[in-house]
Amino acid sequence: MLRFLRPSLPPLDSVIEHYRAVYESGMITNAALVARFEAAAAERIGVKHCVAVSSCTSGLLLVLRALDLEGEVILPSFTFFATGHAVLWNRLRPVFADCDPETWNIDPANVEARITERTCAIVGVHLYGNPCAVDRLGDLAQKHNLRLVFDAAHGFGSVSQGRPVGQFGDAEVFSFTPTKTLVCGEGGLVATNDALLAHRIRAGRNYGDLGSYDPELLGFNARMPEFQAAMGLAGLEHVDAKIRRHNEIAAQYTTELTKAKGLAVPEVRADDLCSFKDYSVAVDPEIFGLTRDQLAAAMLKESIETKKYFYPPLHQQKLYREYATSLPVTERISSQVLSLPIYESMTDEDVELVLTAAQTVAGQKQQR
Ligand SMILES: *Cc1c(COP(=O)(O)O)cnc(C)c1O
Repeated sequence: MLRFLRPSLPPLDSVIEHYRAVYESGMITNAALVARFEAAAAERIGVKHCVAVSSCTSGLLLVLRALDLEGEVILPSFTFFATGHAVLWNRLRPVFADCDPETWNIDPANVEARITERTCAIVGVHLYGNPCAVDRLGDLAQKHNLRLVFDAAHGFGSVSQGRPVGQFGDAEVFSFTPTKTLVCGEGGLVATNDALLAHRIRAGRNYGDLGSYDPELLGFNARMPEFQAAMGLAGLEHVDAKIRRHNEIAAQYTTELTKAKGLAVPEVRADDLCSFKDYSVAVDPEIFGLTRDQLAAAMLKESIETKKYFYPPLHQQKLYREYATSLPVTERISSQVLSLPIYESMTDEDVELVLTAAQTVAGQKQQR
């Protein structure tokens, strides 16, 4: 069986090398290594402030809280539910925008159509690490005086028109769980050029308090432990090689799979670099001759594990059903989406296995 995912971790020795002195000092959470990790990330991304937090979810919660928002937040429905949870936890109202049929990312034209006087912010997502329309969303935010935040959980190492993801909007928030590009075990990072916002996130991750014992905002404990920062520091050196390998595999998949009629992949803009945290195809059952679920079952018979990132979309989940609205592109793509194994330690033979399985399934289908 070819597993869907194997996280690639930095060599343990390189992590321990960072961690040993810290462990001996006894300062094992939110201390020297976290500060070093933040500085290294800020330099890599090219942003003034990075604030490490316990997860991307806690980072998104704190950013929306620290911006003191009220009203409606426009976000995609075709994403992981943590994007929406950050909105609901802040008692803001989610307004779902449809996605672009080519890139599958949030569609700026559809965002604009949903802006009202109650809108306070837009939350974009770089789906699979494919940079979303940061420039057009930035224009909209400016024109309508809205806050702009990116869920960059998939986007560490991605580049939009020559600029690293992390530089855009009021803040971008990364995730470092085992399925993401940079792995700390658990962890997140808020990147921003806004000094006040960075200050408020630093307070927010420590219950809202920066030492006065009189919290500035309603924070909670969202600190990153030092061991997680040691993994992050060690892992930073391997991010580019990992993304290169993901791009090699993605290019092979796209070349071979798009030969089959009825399989489509999201478009990456010229001059963008996608981290390919995930690789997904959309299966058009009318043309391909099999539904997404039939293809998934057939791939499993060929010993290939797959996932459906992301299905069902948020507006079809219990927590979000009351916010459902017309989202035809989201509904079509999410019902067709199938994600294939993509990870650094996949060998060329593993990639070949996936492609052979897909070709076998496509061949059997034609014989019926
Ligand atoms: C993984 C993920 C998150 C949550 O990240 P955590 O670090 O687990 O909180 C948020 N948004 C998206 C799009 C994700 O894929």
